[in-house]
Amino acid sequence: MRRSRLRQAGVSRLELRCGTVSDPRESFKDAFGDWPTLVSEAPGRVNLIGDHTDYNELPVLPIALAERVRLWLRPREDGRVRVGSADFPDAPESFDLGDPIEPRGSGDWRNYVRAAATGARTVLPDGVRGLDGWIVSDLPPASGLSSSSALVVAVMHALLELNGAGLGRLEVAVLAARAERFVGTQGGGMDQAAALCGRAGHALLIEFGPLRVRPVSVPSGWCFVVAYTGTPAEKSGRAQREYNERVASCRAALDRMGEAIGVDRALSYPALLAQAALPDLLTVAARVLEPRHLARFRHTVTEATRVRAAVQALEEGDPGRFGRLMSESHESLKGDYGVSTAELDRLVTVATTAGAEGARLTGAGFGGSIVALAGPSALDAVESALRQAVSEPMADTEPRPGARVFPARASNGAVVRDAAPGDPAAPAANG
Ligand code: ADP
Ligand code: MG
Repeated sequence: MRRSRLRQAGVSRLELRCGTVSDPRESFKDAFGDWPTLVSEAPGRVNLIGDHTDYNELPVLPIALAERVRLWLRPREDGRVRVGSADFPDAPESFDLGDPIEPRGSGDWRNYVRAAATGARTVLPDGVRGLDGWIVSDLPPASGLSSSSALVVAVMHALLELNGAGLGRLEVAVLAARAERFVGTQGGGMDQAAALCGRAGHALLIEFGPLRVRPVSVPSGWCFVVAYTGTPAEKSGRAQREYNERVASCRAALDRMGEAIGVDRALSYPALLAQAALPDLLTVAARVLEPRHLARFRHTVTEATRVRAAVQALEEGDPGRFGRLMSESHESLKGDYGVSTAELDRLVTVATTAGAEGARLTGAGFGGSIVALAGPSALDAVESALRQAVSEPMADTEPRPGARVFPARASNGAVVRDAAPGDPAAPAANG
């Protein structure tokens, strides 16, 4: 297959240069003995602002990326699901949709395939179609750019389409968010909604209870640059305990606040924020919450107000204000939420020193990536400073071969389409 075709199929230049990747259709044929007929693709996302708010039903503002998980597939009539990944050498996943589906060991990538299948089959009748699938992705796994939900959405979307489930995108997003908790991480619903509802050239204001998505146009000249430290943060592995501790602390803080202001224990964060002004809530919180819960609570509620302000700055075309909000968000995630690392802090400083309007860790933290906002005059300087920084590890760390820097291209959401050999993968982004 020609190089241009491979590039369009999601194979990176580096992989082509190193000769490590073949045509995904041929890999599929090697694995399953026949050609794929369809490809289900789902984008990663970079979150511009609003981290660790989605599981508290508070808003977030990501953009869906051009980088994505592609599941090359062939339907099966016998309800069996077999899925392998170009990035993980383990044996392909293999199970029957009609059988009980138990999780494998913690951190096993195949649990995300199982998660998608358990979710899909709750809305499918008996005797469903399964698939053979081969995953090729240009999202670095566990980099804070939502490779996990891109994978879950790609598999689930394929199963739902093959079986004519007829669900809307928001319904699939809700189903996928619930399903991903199968891996043991108590995440929210941002990543799955971004993967399904991405829009070229737009950021996505995502709100919860019920799920809503409003695309907000990104002004021309604004460039969001992503820098991956090269340190993965596996949310169903190394980072899981810390992640779930944050979820539990927020819930405990909410319950205590509900008691303190005399409302129902089942109160939600949006309902709490509607009860009183933010300074008043923070005064009560300082009185009634223990220090760790107070810090988690303070990040959560101030981050929600930053998201609202950032949407306004985006709509008004005010990059200076948007950038300041990003930097404030980083300080809050670092101090009150305790999810930053020395590498992330360093990249944030490098970006702002080089002229970025603002920068912050993106996603859950504990490693992973940062995102910086650069205007046209600073873009080259910001990108090259970040490239330099990720190529030089910090004094006490090993070199990180997976580290990379790239501009975020706001792209369209998940799609299931024909994979006929004469129909090369169309570029998903036009923004
Ligand atoms: P993030 O969503 O930020 O990338 P997570 O820790 O939530 O990080 O998910 C990363 C996990 O998703 C990986 O550890 C792996 O189990 C799974 N995963 C990601 N990409 C792939 C892939 N290409 N093939 C198979 N599994 C993948
Ligand atoms: Mg994830």
